[in-house]
Amino acid sequence: MNVLINEAKLQKRIQQMAKEIESEYQGKQIVFLGILKGSVPFLWELAKNIRNDIRFEFIEVSSYEGTESTGNIKINKDITHNITGKDVIIVEDIVDTGRTLSFLKQYLLEKQPNSLKIATLLSKPSRRVIEIGVDYIGFEIEDKFVVGFGLDYDQQYRNLPYVGYIE
Ligand code: 5GP
Repeated sequence: MNVLINEAKLQKRIQQMAKEIESEYQGKQIVFLGILKGSVPFLWELAKNIRNDIRFEFIEVSSYEGTESTGNIKINKDITHNITGKDVIIVEDIVDTGRTLSFLKQYLLEKQPNSLKIATLLSKPSRRVIEIGVDYIGFEIEDKFVVGFGLDYDQQYRNLPYVGYIE
């Protein structure tokens, strides 16, 4: 396993992102809507550095078998509280093609939140198929398959405290 972003760098950058969010939301309540399962470590690291009233919601999605090109996405587990009128930030581990977030953004906008933003720990801009506005990006990385800090390879490696890649 090679280290791409070590623990100290992750912490430092996430703390900066937290400060940015805190200053933009000025004491408002925020709903952190985490995409399971990969966003959990990032969501927690971000949330614990923000003093606003933060509520947690989670959604789990998966792509239909063999639909890499169509981007059909299925909701396995939906949110449990109403987000109408709320200030929501979708929290994601990595934006790759942009399909997951494009689908989720549309789905969540139908619920009429007061505002809807996106925060991702990682982004691979060279892989984007659908242009999607991402409001907070931790790190832009090259086209490498990464694991750790929530990201898995076949459900493994999520608990690594750093972001790494396998040669
Ligand atoms: P998108 O819909 O943007 O193509 O895909 C986003 C999802 O693909 C992420 O939530 C993640 O589950 C998966 N993914 C994309 N790139 C990587 C990667 O480098 N490593 C891992 N572990 N998952 C990835």
